[in-house]
Amino acid sequence: MHEMSIAMSIVDAVEARAREEGGEKISTVELEIGKLSGVETESLRFCFSAAAANSMLEGARLEIREVQPEGECLDCGNRFPVEFHYAKCISCGSFRVDVVAGRELAIRSITLE
Ligand SMILES: [Zn+2]
Repeated sequence: MHEMSIAMSIVDAVEARAREEGGEKISTVELEIGKLSGVETESLRFCFSAAAANSMLEGARLEIREVQPEGECLDCGNRFPVEFHYAKCISCGSFRVDVVAGRELAIRSITLE
């Protein structure tokens, strides 16, 4: 995926938020990234430090919380961990399974210096 453009949009969003709160420098950004989001976290870390250069986020610490994918069966309501975008219910065998977690790509919190 295009980690550089993701990193740049994170920097933009965090800067906008920090300005609203009257901050000038950000010390930590906490992200939530689902394992099915298609984002390579190592690549994102690398792009983040490049995107953060000469911004309010320069030198900020990036904390990434990886979210384990979970499916929910539409037939029996069972929730269970999944490995992929589609899955078979481990309880009743149904294929009508919604992936309800694991696709996240979100900023959870920012810490101003
Ligand atoms: Zn089921």
